[in-house]
Parts: sequence; structure tokens; C-alpha cells
Amino acid sequence: MEESALRAMDAEQLREHGHKMVDFIADYYKTIQNFPVLSQVQPGYLEKLLPDSAPDYPDSLQNVLDDVTEKILPGVTHWQSPNYFAYYPANSSIAGFLGEMLSAGLNIVGFSWITSPAATELESIVLDWLAKAFQLPEDFYSSGKGGGVIQGTASEAVLVVLLAARDKILRRLGRSALPKLVMYASDQTHAALQKACQIAGLNPELCKFLKADSSTNYALSPEVLSEAISNDIAGGLVPFFLCATVGTTSSAAIDPLPALGKIAKTNNLWFHVDAAYAGSACICPEYRDYFDGIEESDSFNMNAHKWFLTNFDCSVLWVKDRNSLIQSLSTNPEYLKNKASQGNMVVDYKDWQIPLGRRFRSLKLWMVLRLYGLEGLRSHIRNHIELAAYFEELVSQDKRFKVISPLSFSLVCFRLLSPLNSEDHGNKLNRDLLDSVNSTGNIFITHTVLSGEYILRFAVGAPLTERRHVTMAWQIFQDKATALLESL
Ligand SMILES: *Cc1c(COP(=O)(O)O)cnc(C)c1O
Repeated sequence: MEESALRAMDAEQLREHGHKMVDFIADYYKTIQNFPVLSQVQPGYLEKLLPDSAPDYPDSLQNVLDDVTEKILPGVTHWQSPNYFAYYPANSSIAGFLGEMLSAGLNIVGFSWITSPAATELESIVLDWLAKAFQLPEDFYSSGKGGGVIQGTASEAVLVVLLAARDKILRRLGRSALPKLVMYASDQTHAALQKACQIAGLNPELCKFLKADSSTNYALSPEVLSEAISNDIAGGLVPFFLCATVGTTSSAAIDPLPALGKIAKTNNLWFHVDAAYAGSACICPEYRDYFDGIEESDSFNMNAHKWFLTNFDCSVLWVKDRNSLIQSLSTNPEYLKNKASQGNMVVDYKDWQIPLGRRFRSLKLWMVLRLYGLEGLRSHIRNHIELAAYFEELVSQDKRFKVISPLSFSLVCFRLLSPLNSEDHGNKLNRDLLDSVNSTGNIFITHTVLSGEYILRFAVGAPLTERRHVTMAWQIFQDKATALLESL
């Protein structure tokens, strides 16, 4: 072995290599606009560039970084580019990055309080801070019967509350009631809920994704929900769970929480609110209205890793009744027993999630809240909402295009109109426009389908995006549309 080979965690080697890595990442951000936003490689590209087995002897960091530059970065889609407008954002920030770094440095596995008391206690405190900033009802605070927990993703958050709700009703009715349980949500709900239903072993026919269309701006209609519930009860079934979304993934539609919450209460349903993307806007007083009715929910999740300057992953979930979660998910094997846990003196977050092991993610969120402050986060959100409004204005001024749904949050849905006035042609035209725009490498956007129409989605939210990037993006849409329309 060479003298310079890395030991596992030698302090001086860490200092030297850590500085090199930070420089590498800083240079990446400095030049991020030189890369095509959407990676332009073909499937299988990397196999041709890398050896077919791991090295027997240590290589140098410099060689690895050279390979990152030459072989890995071409296969990276640059989510942090200011010209990234696809899906929803996945914010990074200096505070979030430093928090991840510190968490990687400490590298604890905080499943029980005793495995690192600070990890558990900081998580409870930071989620109480955030609950307060979002003006959530006190039932969600850790001081009462509820509390917050950081999950890896919204998919896990939705799954654990669905399991808690399922087990809660089965404890009352007996396990044989499982095939009769009915779950409700709109057909605009994220597919994470469908996956959760599969994992929870629900009857697939009783997972009712009710139709939401343009007549309600793709929000779930309380009348449609009420009718479905009445029919199901009349048919001897057992309604038990309702999921509403604030900011759906296709079009950022907003389900009417107050009316839905009332129906959930009347029928004794567990009411979950998924605001994975839009939840971040809840810290701005002027957008808090969109979350009115959250008071009636049993659980609420938002992804701090989407639009809240917190590096992936960090999905925040609050529940009003933490015991329901714990009753579904806790285990108590001998090898994990300890005085604090046995004495019920502490929170053991292993019982609020699927895996045992968990990262020290609250450090990252704490650093984001401290280093930006709520006001810093509010201006981050407001800036993007203004940029989206600016983009919407540009689209609506060009009569060849049409804005599809009213602007909510920082997502603009729009499409190029077919001069042939045909739905099929309109869909092909917009697919071609999407491909053509993305193949420039200058911006990256994605699409959805609403009522059979292929729709372009322009999601503002990358931390580096400024007005000039939005202006340039619109120029690309206009140029490519002109070329497509001329070639007809
Ligand atoms: C992004 C998103 C999800 C899925 O998020 P993951 O954290 O990737 O599981 C779920 N619901 C909504 C509304 C979303 O926007």
C-alpha cells in the first residue's frame, strides 16, 4: 500500500481531502450553467467508460475526481441548475449542505433516544418550531399527544399514516374487516398513495381515486366524496381513510380542506393532508389560507427537501395521535432495551417509521432554519412565486399558447395550441415541443396529462433561478414553437 493511502477516518487526511471536495463542489456550482440541464447520455453509457471490476488497490482522490468530471457529470441531470424547471424542485443550500456534511461527519444511527439523545430531542424541537411557523394546531406539537417526525420521503410518510389508520380501525373491528376498508383520494393524488395502499394490503377495488376534472380545477369535490362514502356505507363497506393534497403533482391543485375535513370527521375517517411540494408556502402568511382546514386533519406532511432549502432527504410528518403510529410500528427486542425506553421517558423514533436505522436529519433542518431564518425562507418562496407569475404573464401574452390552470404556488401549466384544432395533433405538437426544448440542454421541463390533454409544466423553484433565466426559458419555448409551427 502507498504511504498516501486513505485511512478510514484520519483527522488530517479528512481535512485535506474535505477541503479538496468542497473546492470541487464550489467549482461545480460556479460552472453549473455550462452543462446541459438534462443529461444527454444514452442508456448504458457508463458501462463503456468504467472497468468491469473494483480496484484491488487504492487510487487517489484526484484520479477519482477526474473521473467524476469526465465520466459521471455527463450522466448527471443538474437539478440545481437555475434553468431546471422540471417535476418539482429539490433545493440545495449552503446551510442544508453544511448540515448534511455535519451529519455525515458524526454518522450516528439515532433509532432510540439513547443512541444519541441530541438527535431525537433536536428533531422534536425543530419540528415543534416548524409546526409553530406553519401555524399548525397545538395537537401536532410534541408537548401533547402528537408530534413531528422526519421521514426520508413523502412516500414513507403517507405509508406510515395509512398503516396507523388501518391498524387503528382493525383494532376496533377485528382483522377480518380488512377486505372491507375503503380509502378515498382524488385521481390527482401522488402515486405514492397507491403504492402505500398496495403495501398495506388494502383491497385494490376499494382504493377509490375519485375523478377530479377541470370543473373544480382538478380538486376533489366534497359532493363526489360524500356520495361515494354514502354508497359504500350502504354497501356494507367500511370507509376509513381520506387523503387530501395541497399542491398536486400534476397541476398544483388544492383540495378544499375545510369541506373535506368536515366529511372525514362526520364519517370517522383518518384525514391525511399531503402538501409535499406546496407545504413550504405555508410559512408565508399570505399563502396560509390554502392550508385552512388543516386543523381538522389527523396528519400532515411536507417535503423540506423540495422547496425549503433543505438538501435531500427530509420529509416532515406531523400526527395528532402519535400512539396510533407507535402501535403500528413499534417492536421491542431484547437487544435494544434500555432504561430510558423501558421507563417511557423518551421518544424512540424507530417506532414512528419503517426502518430501524435513521440519519441525523434534524441537524440539517435546524441549520436551514437558523442560517436563513423564517424571513429568509419566506423571501425564497415569494421570489419563486413571483417568477412563476412572470412566466405565466409571458405565456398569456402569446396567443399561440394557452395557460391551463390558474397559477397556484410556483407551477405554470400551459400548452401550445394546435392550428389544426385537433386533440391528437395538439398532443403530438406539445410532446414535440417538450422534446425539442429539452434537447437544447439549455432548460429542462416535464409534462403531465390533464383531461386527455398533454400539458407542459414549468415549475420554478431552483435556488439559483433569477428573472433572466425565466426570460431565456420563454425565449426558447417561443423559438421552438415557431420552428414547429413553420414545419407543419
Ligand atoms: C413529490 C411528491 C410526493 C412524493 O415525494 P417523495 O418524497 O419523493 O416520496 C408525494 N406527494 C406530493 C404531493 C408530491 O409533490
